[in-house]
Amino acid sequence: MTEPVFRFAPSPNGHLHLGHALSALLNARAAVALRGRLLVRVEDIDQTRCTPELERDMFEDLSWLGLQWEQPVVCQSDCFAFYREALERLQDTGLVYPSYLTRAEIKTFVNQRDASGHTWPRDPDGAPLYPGDGEVLSEAELRQRAASDAPFALRLDMKGALQRIGASPGWQEAGAEGACLFDPAVTVAADAAAWGDVVLARKDTPTSYHLSVVVDDARQGVTDVLRGQDLHHATSVHRVLQELLGLPQPVYRHHRLVLGEDGRKLSKSNSDTSLRSLREAGMTHAQLRKRIGL
Ligand code: GLU
Repeated sequence: MTEPVFRFAPSPNGHLHLGHALSALLNARAAVALRGRLLVRVEDIDQTRCTPELERDMFEDLSWLGLQWEQPVVCQSDCFAFYREALERLQDTGLVYPSYLTRAEIKTFVNQRDASGHTWPRDPDGAPLYPGDGEVLSEAELRQRAASDAPFALRLDMKGALQRIGASPGWQEAGAEGACLFDPAVTVAADAAAWGDVVLARKDTPTSYHLSVVVDDARQGVTDVLRGQDLHHATSVHRVLQELLGLPQPVYRHHRLVLGEDGRKLSKSNSDTSLRSLREAGMTHAQLRKRIGL
């Protein structure tokens, strides 16, 4: 049997919170229990929100947690060439196309639809599905944007992709903690169509979360993707990209989320639950473990 390879892959676009602590510690525990390796990957493709200071703070937090990981650490900002190459392979399939609608234009269009009583469909994260440039812009406007230096996103023709693959590929899901780590994986049915034509890259960034995560998991030989339940549905998209690019599929292990006192998902913008502020307020390791149910 091959040695399991786990990874904890935070984005230094804010301070780590209790949910990241749970994810990091579950990855560490699983790696020990299954006699595997643990990698940390810095997901910093968003070069405007991710900063060296936040990255430094992130490593400080992880050290405080007692996490031990392999060196060298891969930073996605050093890997754009790999993403570009994967993007080109996807472009060669004819399933990638440029779209010029801005986020604001999509929002305005969707608000109008919603207001007229025809609620526009949302993806599993609650974001409006991309309507297609032709739904919103005139032909002249589209020609003008294509001919000019207008910003664009490269999107995956999801319908075409699913036709090529045959069906939305499911994935292998196994347990994320405790005795469940050892249970055999079960097949989860996927519905990638629910995401519509996802963005694979933008004019200024030759990748996206979805593309870089599948490229790196394959490049780094990750066998077990243990991450929060909030990314459960995104796995449908990752499986499509793996099939199109001929990449191996890891086993997925989605873990419970840590909720705030208000019962809502934690966010990096809420500094009260950041590991730094809790630590500075005197929280001990034992208290932290209790708070996150470990
Ligand atoms: N970078 C992502 C985050 O911080 C996690 C990606 C993943 O585990 O697939 O939410």
